[in-house]
Amino acid sequence: MKRRRRTRHLRNVILSLSAVGLFLLCAVMFYDGLLDPALSNGAEPEHTVSVPDSESTAPSLTISSAAPVSQEESEPVSETASEPVVSAAPPAVSSSAPAVSSEAPPASSQPVPVSSQPQSEPAPPESVPPVSVPENDPYPALYVSKPDYVPHEAGDKVVYLTFDDGPSNLTIPVLDVLDRYGIKATFFVVGKTSEEDKEALRETVERGHTLAVHTYTHDYASIYASPEAYLSDFSRIRNLIYDTTGVEPTIYRYAGGSVNGYNKGTARSIVTEMDRRGYTYYDWNVDSGDAQHGATGESIYRNVIDQTSRYEKAIVLMHNSGAKKDTLDQLPRIIEKLQSMGYRFAALDATVEPINFRLPD
Ligand SMILES: [Zn+2]
Repeated sequence: MKRRRRTRHLRNVILSLSAVGLFLLCAVMFYDGLLDPALSNGAEPEHTVSVPDSESTAPSLTISSAAPVSQEESEPVSETASEPVVSAAPPAVSSSAPAVSSEAPPASSQPVPVSSQPQSEPAPPESVPPVSVPENDPYPALYVSKPDYVPHEAGDKVVYLTFDDGPSNLTIPVLDVLDRYGIKATFFVVGKTSEEDKEALRETVERGHTLAVHTYTHDYASIYASPEAYLSDFSRIRNLIYDTTGVEPTIYRYAGGSVNGYNKGTARSIVTEMDRRGYTYYDWNVDSGDAQHGATGESIYRNVIDQTSRYEKAIVLMHNSGAKKDTLDQLPRIIEKLQSMGYRFAALDATVEPINFRLPD
């Protein structure tokens, strides 16, 4: 009797222990089930808002002495006296940049992993965009990825001819000259929308040159009023380029250069904002002077040759508005002379380390 009761008691104990154990097991499973998805979701990289590291990619705005450079385009406004100083980008700069920009390096250049079973792993998430677009960004299209710079090799004498303020009736003639010598250049364009101008944009791309942003309105007072005002103008010219040619411009040049009489209070904040969006801007270390009052064919030629001869890597400022016939006329002579001096020509793209002026503090 006693023994049977003890047995029953023992069985009850075992039963209740199992019940408790079962309960605990269920509880643990339930808990896991709750936790897991939450954890993995939280860890998904594409959900995190990554702030681009502008430090690591920002052009090294090394400030150093170099030839003072005269201001760009005297057209709409008279420039202030303060002359920007070229930050002679450290000698190791630049690159052999091929033609049209906005090209990512070919996928084939990346190491291809040796075959793995296709199904074994889910496809990795779409390559995470380098810059994540914050919610409520008024310009979600204004983000590009910034590649690393390809270092300029010592001894490589390279000239980047750049033409501002086109397109115009002189764009195709300039393209014809460039074609004749088989060289590529860069066109920083403005907001012109006639069919002829749009055709010039398309031709520029088709012939392998870089199409880049200058400004839509070229109205210093309005575009440099604030980063928002700058973005508004930038967006218009970016859209015109993109809608007309399909090219996503990744590089740009400030109207009047990055240092001018209108952006002293806003230059840094505008540059910071454009860096954050992945864009790269280029000033110049050679000024043809073709926008200066009293410029002649001879002065344009001399300016380019004399100033370029000081550098292994020259970014040459010229203009392509309809008034710049002298520039067009001097182009063959300039190209031939620079070739005889051992220079090659290339178009800018975002892998070329910029030459930029020293921004005001
Ligand atoms: Zn301009």
